[in-house]
Amino acid sequence: MSEKSPLKLLCVTAHPDDECFAFGGALMLAAEAGVETSVICFTDGQAATNRGVAASGAELGRMRREEFAASCKILDVAHHELLDYQDAQLEFANFSETAALLVQRIRTYKPDVVLTFGGDGAMNTHADHTMVSCFTNAAFHWAASPKRFPGLGPTHTARRLFYNTTNFFFPGRPAPLPAPWTVTLDVTSVQHRKFEAFRAHTSQLPLMEKFQSFFEKRAGQEFYTLVSTPEPQAAIQQTDLFVGL
Ligand SMILES: [Zn+2]
Repeated sequence: MSEKSPLKLLCVTAHPDDECFAFGGALMLAAEAGVETSVICFTDGQAATNRGVAASGAELGRMRREEFAASCKILDVAHHELLDYQDAQLEFANFSETAALLVQRIRTYKPDVVLTFGGDGAMNTHADHTMVSCFTNAAFHWAASPKRFPGLGPTHTARRLFYNTTNFFFPGRPAPLPAPWTVTLDVTSVQHRKFEAFRAHTSQLPLMEKFQSFFEKRAGQEFYTLVSTPEPQAAIQQTDLFVGL
């Protein structure tokens, strides 16, 4: 038996439900392969259009924290953390402080693979998604640099940073400018659980109902772009986030 400790994956998101809509397949496949998975979500999603039975933003935030925890459980996420940033306000957050928070998490958790959104802001071009991409990109590099935040613990060089990307657009919506993918994940084996995790976001069910048939047609694959690694290399097409690790 191998003495090697399990590989670790860190996924950084903006809102409760991003973890299943965007990254659910990757998280479940990784867990199935024995990878330890962790999700950090920046906001409690209290600016959402769909508000369930919540009477206030704070109440919606509390509901969505619970929904996030339930979804992470279905996705077999080993650790999840929901931060206290304001939904729909991430573009105004202090960049250096926010990146430092992620540097500290990366140096402590020591992931091999980091997943986040691309700069396009994902399917709905949400500014929070773009900002999470920027913070995570900076933190991925700065966590590995002894010059950056030396007070936040020993450096950690994660092996791969991937952006989530897409091979389709929502009809009738402003299209993002997505990164070309380098990884096509076949997530059909975990598709039913991905939908189960969607449905754990009870307050967001109207959104799910609106797009359900559309998602069902497209749900068998997730697309990722390898954006950073410690080794210089040509981009090649893969079907696994962990090849060679
Ligand atoms: Zn989101």
